[in-house]
Amino acid sequence: MSDRESGLRGNRQRQWSLLLDRVLLHTRAKALRGNSSPQPPQRDSGLVLGGQNSLTETVAQAWARSGETVLIDPARYQTDFATAEHPFHLPSELPDQLELLSQDRTLAGYLRCQRAISGSPLALTPTGYLARGAQEAVKTAVRQVRYETDEDTTVLTLPLDRQWLTNEAALDFLIAELRPVVALKALVLGADRNPLERVGTARALRLLLSEVPGTALIRTDLAGLDAVAHDAVFAAIGTRSSLRHARPPRKGGFPPSGRPAYVLHPRLMRFIRNSSLTEKYGARRAPACDCTYCQGLPLTRFEDTERGATEAELHNTAVWTPWAARILEQPPGSRRQAVWRHLCQQALADYGELNRQLGYEAFTADAALETWAGVR
Ligand SMILES: [Zn+2]
Repeated sequence: MSDRESGLRGNRQRQWSLLLDRVLLHTRAKALRGNSSPQPPQRDSGLVLGGQNSLTETVAQAWARSGETVLIDPARYQTDFATAEHPFHLPSELPDQLELLSQDRTLAGYLRCQRAISGSPLALTPTGYLARGAQEAVKTAVRQVRYETDEDTTVLTLPLDRQWLTNEAALDFLIAELRPVVALKALVLGADRNPLERVGTARALRLLLSEVPGTALIRTDLAGLDAVAHDAVFAAIGTRSSLRHARPPRKGGFPPSGRPAYVLHPRLMRFIRNSSLTEKYGARRAPACDCTYCQGLPLTRFEDTERGATEAELHNTAVWTPWAARILEQPPGSRRQAVWRHLCQQALADYGELNRQLGYEAFTADAALETWAGVR
């Protein structure tokens, strides 16, 4: 057992040990119905189910009965902002199984019910979206978790707008406020687009994770792999693009986006819309994918339909699962980081090679990949 593991196991957070060094699949209950549904990447890696309704509960209970680790993310940050008075928003209309008795209409009561449904010893707080400058909301959230809940079983969810990562003073505030929190913390990054697209944000995220022990990164993309390589307790990678980050809540919600197929390019380590990928390869033959799902089929075959998008998700999971395994088979610390950095360096080199083959600058690496590869 590593020092880090024994440290985590030795302190009050016995409940965390079950999630330590795992990369979970962040998905929705609806997506888990049917035969061709995304499955957890490997036995015991676990699931985070976003949203809360009776279907989520039914699915969570079924998976928990089968022995899978299931967490429920009530995802209240999708509809509500966190305020100094109300950092948490209990679900307003509760389905039958979660009908709280009046004494349970409290944060602690809600978390107790969530644990009963998911079968997990841990429950995620229904935190609202933390916009830039919501320092008081963070303080109230920390205080309520400390004094009103059982910190051993509470996961303080922190849906942070990306602007927290671009402002040094805001980052320092978060580190100072969150460092003493005994409860496990789960970061969700929020932005209309990729929260890590700006230079410096991937580095700021690493700093936050390393300075605040006992933190996880959920509803994310490959940033989850960077997180577990850099001492996050666990990560949860989203199956579809809307589950790879949060967005600031908006009046009237978001218009339906259809079902675009996003494909994780196995050499470029980047999610690219299939239609864009097809266009970039143009008349040239698209590469075959040798992941365990595709088994040699073309990488650009996924259509913008429910079926095509779902198949792309199965491909995506099959592509990143071996990366996660390679990182996690190393002990935490420099060896684990070196394996991850090497993967990213290889991908960066492949941008150049692919562009040369195509004869133009078809693909550009994003700032986060450059940070992960150690060149920025
Ligand atoms: Zn594939």
